[in-house]
Amino acid sequence: MNNERNVSSRLYWSLYHKKVQLERENEKLLIENNFLKNKFILNNISEERRCSFIRSNGKRCRQKGLPHQNGGEIINGYCQYHQPK
Ligand SMILES: [Zn+2]
Repeated sequence: MNNERNVSSRLYWSLYHKKVQLERENEKLLIENNFLKNKFILNNISEERRCSFIRSNGKRCRQKGLPHQNGGEIINGYCQYHQPK
């Protein structure tokens, strides 16, 4: 009898720990998912706002008006370096 009780109590705690562990993992995944979603949105928006200037090497200017770039805001499709004069 007593032994049976111990088994079910141990089972209960191991399931409880598993549950807590899964909840933590779930939380982590939710945060990661949110981060990726934001990154995706930012990428799409910034692709739309990318400077249209074609450089002498045939490649498009990479300025997107992002905070870490220094080409400033994209105005009328061009960064500050390539504003039509
Ligand atoms: Zn540009």
